[in-house]
Order: sequence, then C-alpha cells, then structure tokens
Amino acid sequence: MRVDEKQDLVVIGGGLAGLAAACRAAELGLKPLVLEATDDESYLCNSRITGGIFHVAMHDIRLSEDEARKNIHNASQGFARPELVDALAGNAVRSVDWLRSQGIRFIRGGPTPELGTVLAPPRLQQFGMHWKGRGGDVLLRTLSERLAERGGTLRRGARVLSIVMEAGCCTGVEVEIDGSVSRLRTGAVVIADGGFQANQDMVGQYISPAPEKLFQRNAGTGRGDGIRIAAAVGAKLVGMDKFYGHVLHRDVINNERLWPHPMIDSMAVSGVVVNGGGQRVFDEGLGGVSIANMIAKLEDPHGCTVICDAAAWRGPAREAVMGPNPNLEKAGGKVITADSIEDLAAKTGLPATALGDTVRHYNEAVARGTLNSLDPPRTSNRFRPLPIAEVPLLAVPVCAGITYSMGGIAIDGAARALDANDQPIPGLYAAGASTGGLEGGPNTAYTGGLSKAVVFGLLAGEAAARFGGNQPR
Ligand SMILES: Cc1cc2nc3c(=O)[nH]c(=O)nc-3n(C[C@H](O)[C@H](O)[C@H](O)COP(=O)(O)OP(=O)(O)OC[C@H]3O[C@@H](n4cnc5c(N)ncnc54)[C@H](O)[C@@H]3O)c2cc1C
Repeated sequence: MRVDEKQDLVVIGGGLAGLAAACRAAELGLKPLVLEATDDESYLCNSRITGGIFHVAMHDIRLSEDEARKNIHNASQGFARPELVDALAGNAVRSVDWLRSQGIRFIRGGPTPELGTVLAPPRLQQFGMHWKGRGGDVLLRTLSERLAERGGTLRRGARVLSIVMEAGCCTGVEVEIDGSVSRLRTGAVVIADGGFQANQDMVGQYISPAPEKLFQRNAGTGRGDGIRIAAAVGAKLVGMDKFYGHVLHRDVINNERLWPHPMIDSMAVSGVVVNGGGQRVFDEGLGGVSIANMIAKLEDPHGCTVICDAAAWRGPAREAVMGPNPNLEKAGGKVITADSIEDLAAKTGLPATALGDTVRHYNEAVARGTLNSLDPPRTSNRFRPLPIAEVPLLAVPVCAGITYSMGGIAIDGAARALDANDQPIPGLYAAGASTGGLEGGPNTAYTGGLSKAVVFGLLAGEAAARFGGNQPR
C-alpha cells in the first residue's frame, strides 16, 4: 500500500460540515485535504439538495444565546448533551455570520420566524428535486472556491475506508482512489460523511424492523462509513435510534414528484393516524418528525393512513409551506374523500366499525379536552387537534421518509470524538449528520441539520487547527 506525504488535516466528506471545517482550518493556517467519495463535479449530498432553512430547533437562528438554549432544551427535554446545547446555542449566529463572510447569501424564506435565514437562491416551489443553481448547490461551490483560494484541496472520488491509529492517537486514514487503496498520514481527521440513513443494514439495526419500507428522502450518500470506522477505533455512538424525516404520501415510492414535498405532517397532526386495523397507534401531537419515526418503528411501516376532515384540509394542510392542499393532487398523489366514515372505510379498505370507534373516541376527546386520556394518549398541545367531522372526510395512505439519521459519533463541545469513557480520542473530530448526542431522544428532538453541520464544522476546524498547531508536521 502506498503511504503518502503527511497532510495537516484530512476531512472525510465534502458536504457543509466538511467544507466548513476545512475552510475554517485553512483560515487558521492549515492546508486541509477534503476527501469526497463521489467523483462527480456536482457530487450529490444532503447539503446540495437541502431546503436551505438555517434554524435552531425550528426557531429563528438569530435569537440570543439564552433563547436558543431554552428552545433546544424545550425540544430535547434533557436528552441533548449539555455542552452540545451550549455549543449550538453559543455559535449559531457566529456561524451564519461566518458563512456570509465566505460569500454565502441568505434571504427571508417566509413570514414565520424560523424562515428568517434561508439559503439564496431558495429552492423552487416545484414538485420533485430541483437543486441545480439553488442555495445548497451555490453553498458548496462557494465554499469549495474559498478552500482552494486558501491552499486547501477537495479530492473527489476518494472514499475513506478506515482510520489509522498509533499509540492511541489518530494519525491517518486509508482511502480508495481509482480502485487502489493508499494510506495518508495526517495531523488530524474530521469525520463529516453525513450519517447512515442510506445504509439499509444500519437502519435495520437501529431504526426500523423494515428498513426497505422507509422512503429515502435524501441524497443516498450517507452510508454510515464514518460512524463505522470511528466505532472501529473505539468511538462511542449515541442516539442511533432516531432520524429526521417527514410523513409522505405512500405513492412516493412510484412517483418522484411527491418528495421532498408535499409533506403530510400538517394533516397527520390535525387528525389521527391509524393502522390497518383502523386504530390509533401513537401520539400524533408530537409532530411530523416524531410521527415519521413512530411509523418507521412499526412492523409494517406501509400500514398507516392519515384521517382528517375538510376543515383540516382547508386550514393546516393549506397553510403549510408547499403543503398538501393543493400540491398533493397536483403532484399525482391520491387523496381519498368520502361523506361518511363507512364510505371512507370502504374506499380505504379499513374496517368500518374500528375506524368509526377510533374517530368517535377521538372526536369526544377533542370536544371535552381529554386527549390525554385516549389510548394511546395525545399529549402535546403543540399542534391543534381538529375534530374529524366536516365532510368530505379525507384519507391519505402514508409512509415514513428518512432524511438523515440523528445519532452517531459522540462528540464534546469542541467536536472532538469521544471514546466509551467520554474521553476525547486525540486527533479525531466529527461534525454534522455523522454525530450524535444533540438530536433525537425520547421526543425525537430536531434542532436542525444545517445549523448542526455548520456550527460543529466550524468548531471541528478550529479545534483541529489548535491541535495541529501543537503537532510536528
Ligand atoms: C431534501 C432535504 C431537505 C433538507 N432541508 C433542510 C432544511 O431546510 N434545514 C435544515 O436544517 N436541514 C435540512 N436538511 C438536512 C441538512 O441538509 C443536512 O443535515 C446537512 O446538509 C448535512 O450536512 P453534512 O455535511 O453533515 O452531510 P452531507 O451534506 O450529506 O455531506 C456528506 C458527504 O460525505 C461524503 N461521504 C460519505 N461517505 C464518505 C466516505 N467514506 N469518504 C469520503 N466521503 C464520504 C458524501 O458523499 C457527502 O458528499 C435537508 C435535507 C434534505 C435531504
């Protein structure tokens, strides 16, 4: 095996987390080498096809550090590692400012506060995947240019296979380029390869008994390499059971126009989600990301149907950005309508008596304000439950779309990878969707894929530069 000249810093993955780490380290004097698995000049990754909304826990990313910390705590309910909460809350505004200083432009994406900082140009309000020349694409091209200007290198078509350790310290990687494997020596390694959502074995091991029935609402490049190679050298993994994703029309399996939008979340939280037996199976009040996770955990993730009524269709389903009304049918997704529960049951194939009982119990609980006593209870008031009463009644067969895995390599507040005893592994860092400990947990806390990528990318670049500064070249 060839052993190449020593690099200052090797970054695994050329998404936002990896390029932020590399650009920042280059600003601080290192000459980073980014190894990107895909060869294509416009290599796909989640950062390139992103929706571009920079938020913290679905709140304005420009809130004060204290407000951000409070919002993350509210979402996480104690799951997130406190130093990661502090790192995200304390560096979110700085990270967006830093992106601006690199030439990245943002716009306001809509009237609600979490849409205040959206990558420009925004994604088109069209069906299907249109990323060329949009925010994520421009983001990666701009950061790649900045990296090259500062003497760093982005090497495409280079898939990292393993991490090299010597005397407990990370000293290199093994990488496959053009079919041959070589060993690169380096002062530090940042893992930023984007999570394990596209690895069916790992999704099967950690997330769903039927991974093949989750819809891959992502770029297909997060294969869990970084998590596996970090675990192989003693890194701890945390929060592996949850993912960020949404409830999608089940027809998405055969219809590319039904993803990434419209999402069915707004309908699911306004009514009920039932299984093939016509019964509620989980707490819809927890929101769309949680519902997608709960669907994924079922024996048959293709067995759920969302039931709501005309008021929900006119209200929440229309108000959501690129919401199901009217986009679902325009994109070719069938919405089943009926003037009675019996008719709806006949059209969906659900058992009429069970569906009728479910809707009646739910409607009574909505009227009395006793949703908490339903079985299973509906616990949260975050979304307004609407009675299922006004015709036409609506049904949509749904599935879970997985966007990125929330768990991964345990890191500290400086993006240093931690071992089983929570001690930093010298020379090893991780950022973005390959990391765990911030998102997920019992409430499936979602704090934001882009904010996580840029904040921990910056911190990893800074920590690697500090570490590299102490090492002989
Ligand atoms: C449709 C969609 C919409 C989204 N919208 C939003 C949004 O509006 N707001 C938000 O906050 N988040 C959003 N996200 C999530 C967010 O975009 C991601 O969480 C974030 O971009 C992840 O960045 P990353 O750098 O960690 O990973 P990625 O961008 O996925 O980059 C990882 C890179 O690593 C490379 N790689 C993988 N394995 C290897 C290997 N072995 N060796 C070398 N390279 C490797 C991959 O090819 C890839 O290029 C969205 C995601 C999707 C898919």
